[in-house]
Amino acid sequence: MEFTYLACFHCKKPKCVPACPTGAMRARADGLVYLEADLCDGCKACIAACPWHIPVWNPRTGKVEKCDLCKDRIDQGLEPACVATCAMSCLHFSGVDAAQPH
Ligand code: SF4
Ligand code: SF4
Repeated sequence: MEFTYLACFHCKKPKCVPACPTGAMRARADGLVYLEADLCDGCKACIAACPWHIPVWNPRTGKVEKCDLCKDRIDQGLEPACVATCAMSCLHFSGVDAAQPH
């Protein structure tokens, strides 16, 4: 069995942001890319624009969802929840910059 962890890269030039017609997909000054869910109309343009099709459309809400690096946690100096809870300590967080290879 193989497992590939493929979460949002918070790209330095995120193709999902300019593709979003409503301004729901946003990039903060520090490079963190996040979704303002109230503005999302579920058009899926961000999914098509992302090279890895990372945003996921939720048929229950009619909106997309995407990793936001647990921005509320990191703004409090905490690690993202996946890093804090990974039982095998496979994941590490060393800042938004380090999460931006692209
Ligand atoms: S959703 Fe895709 S394009 Fe947007 S920041 Fe994440 S990896 Fe980059
Ligand atoms: S699905 Fe939502 S976040 Fe994605 S491009 Fe459309 S309005 Fe923007």
